[in-house]
Amino acid sequence: MKHYSVAIDGPSSAGKSTIARAMAADMRFIYVDTGAMYRAVGLFVSRLGIDSTDAERVITCLPEIDIDISYIGEEQHIFLNGEDVNSLIRTESASIHASNVSAIPEVRAFLLDYQRSFAASNNVIMDGRDIGTVVLPDADVKIFLTASAEVRARRRYKEQKERGEKVTYREVLKAIRLRDKNDSTRASAPLRAADDAVVIDTSDCDLAGACELVRRTIREKIGL
Ligand code: C5P
Repeated sequence: MKHYSVAIDGPSSAGKSTIARAMAADMRFIYVDTGAMYRAVGLFVSRLGIDSTDAERVITCLPEIDIDISYIGEEQHIFLNGEDVNSLIRTESASIHASNVSAIPEVRAFLLDYQRSFAASNNVIMDGRDIGTVVLPDADVKIFLTASAEVRARRRYKEQKERGEKVTYREVLKAIRLRDKNDSTRASAPLRAADDAVVIDTSDCDLAGACELVRRTIREKIGL
């Protein structure tokens, strides 16, 4: 049986996960948040006090890490060695650890098998940085969702304030720029749009407008 796959890549806070989740619910596809997997690996090493940029030490931890995704109601939860770590992986420091470990090719290879096998047996909408270029190069639909760093920082700042975190807009913008730089300049699977991706810039759209653009693109490509 044919399984469809939709790849949504783009920089952090471009709205990928919110939009992918909404599309997946609409289309009854499974949403796979690959960033959460990198975040879980980052959490594991940081709990051990390991510097997440220390590739050698991070690699030695991989055999001890088991990552799983499962659904609680409509929401995807990520499990690290059986522990639901969903609420622990969204902090600013977890973002930096995720970005650091994601630059390590062995970490990427470790997560790749799991990501591919999931897509082989489900209709998926998968979001990340390298889904259209590396993980699912034959995806039926490839979308590169982006927005200016300032717009993304404003969105993220608002979310963090709503969660009661003590951050300033300037700090958030600085962190976004740092992650953009890390993600797009790393040697292994850098962030870039696949040649056959449809690029959607959401700087001037609200969420509903961005969802509509993505929905239209998916419909044009696979008619669902
Ligand atoms: O998407 P999210 O912000 O949760 O991803 C956290 C980090 O994981 C990103 O900054 C990026 O460095 C890394 N990542 C990646 N490849 C993916 C998904 C995320 O390198 N497919």
